[in-house]
Amino acid sequence: MAKVKKAYFCRNCGYEAAKWMGRCPACGEWNTFTEEVIARENSGTVVRTCPVSRVRGPRR
Ligand SMILES: [Zn+2]
Repeated sequence: MAKVKKAYFCRNCGYEAAKWMGRCPACGEWNTFTEEVIARENSGTVVRTCPVSRVRGPRR
């Protein structure tokens, strides 16, 4: 069974945080964190799935 956990990643610099933060401590940008579900397989490989909070429409 793959364990699933949530983490937050900064869109600007990729900083990973265990909880949502309004400001990224790494790059200093505000509101750049997006929630992502991470599935950790038994083999130890980490599979990053699609962001949960994908609200943006198709790119133009
Ligand atoms: Zn950042």
